[in-house]
Amino acid sequence: MHVLIIGGGGREHALAHTLAKSPRVTELLCAPGNAGIASLAECVAIAMDDPGALLSLARDRKIDLTVVGPEAPLCAGIVDKFQAAGLRVFGPTAAAARIEGDKAYAKRLMKAAHVPTAEARIFDNYEDARTYVATRDSGLVVKASGLAAGKGVAVCVDPSEALLELERMMVDRVFGDAGRVVVVEELLKGQELSVFALVDGRTIYMLETAQDHKAARDGDTGPNTGGMGAYSPAPIATPEVMAKIEREVLVPIVDAMLRDGAEYRGLLYTGLMLTPAGPKVLEFNCRFGDPETQAVLMRLESDLFEMIEAVVDGRLEEAGVRWSPKPAVCVVMASKGYPGQYEKGKVIEGLERAGAMKDVCVFHAGTKKVEHLTITSGGRVLGVTAVGDTFADAKRRAYEAVDAIHFEGAFCRRDIADRALGATRPDQPTSV
Ligand code: AMP
Repeated sequence: MHVLIIGGGGREHALAHTLAKSPRVTELLCAPGNAGIASLAECVAIAMDDPGALLSLARDRKIDLTVVGPEAPLCAGIVDKFQAAGLRVFGPTAAAARIEGDKAYAKRLMKAAHVPTAEARIFDNYEDARTYVATRDSGLVVKASGLAAGKGVAVCVDPSEALLELERMMVDRVFGDAGRVVVVEELLKGQELSVFALVDGRTIYMLETAQDHKAARDGDTGPNTGGMGAYSPAPIATPEVMAKIEREVLVPIVDAMLRDGAEYRGLLYTGLMLTPAGPKVLEFNCRFGDPETQAVLMRLESDLFEMIEAVVDGRLEEAGVRWSPKPAVCVVMASKGYPGQYEKGKVIEGLERAGAMKDVCVFHAGTKKVEHLTITSGGRVLGVTAVGDTFADAKRRAYEAVDAIHFEGAFCRRDIADRALGATRPDQPTSV
């Protein structure tokens, strides 16, 4: 089978690495890819926002299945275009991807389907939003309703911060049209959990769980980022919690989408807060999460190609899936300055030595090949991932590999997976 992956980050490297293991995959292409993906797949320099060129590539190269990684092309309708051309493609249609691309829509859908989520108000008028926020005396979260490259959420402990955020989003339009409508919601307290589910329209299969670390610095301090590391499984995801999430969140939302004429096929990511009142949804994403995917897929023993094919063909109930019980830890190495301004073009050394370490995979996120050198080309540069017999073992291996890699200005958190240390299985939770 000829497979095309669309995207070029750490998530797509993990997808390429896992798909390349399938005996069914005979040719692997990636557009645009990165320096790490280039060792597994033929990388083709086509931008993700050029569906016409991607479609021509898929036709010319007789691609049997295309896997779309990022949210932007999904929300822009790349799946609809491929399907209209009679091509097989993994990911939701634009109508279904709205669950991520339009937070106001997602919120309304959750309300209608009685899915537990933070209490929220939706505004398309700045004055109304300001009046509402001015009457609040507790923490609030202000979210740009549209896609804002993971930056459109402001957690405001004080309502006065929320007023400033409203102005930035609705008046200054720092996220452009994405901030035309905002969602203002209650600030929830608890531990976060990411749940990945494959959905073929009707059948739901929950993958192994993960937790990520969003803050830039140790101890969950510093600015919010796209994710500085992740680990899988999540010890807080007990079988009871997972059953509750499936029953109270996934089943009703997938049914609601079906009724709404937006059948969901693809990977549905649910970000949740485990509050004292039970799990509550923070957001849905219409694709694999990054960097959780790197940790989760390291533990997959089944053939990912067959799982994806089962989703596309609507026969997910037949797919048998096996997982390694061993935990995985992914540590992100980032460029100095990230998530703000950062420099690019730094030479990365030590990749071979780190990649040769047992049970380690160095997934590339923002890298580029220039002649024989691998250089940095993004804020998040690498996702150094390891499996081990315990979380402590996986963490030790991941950091040994991190310490073998160098580039100017590199930084990472040193406490990835500390919340999980001591636990080896999700049914033996540790205190956190
Ligand atoms: P989202 O993109 O909606 O998941 O938001 C990004 C991050 O903001 C989440 O991972 C949480 O850490 C935080 N967040 C979002 N909504 C809330 C909320 N209602 N209460 C507390 N934190 C939140």
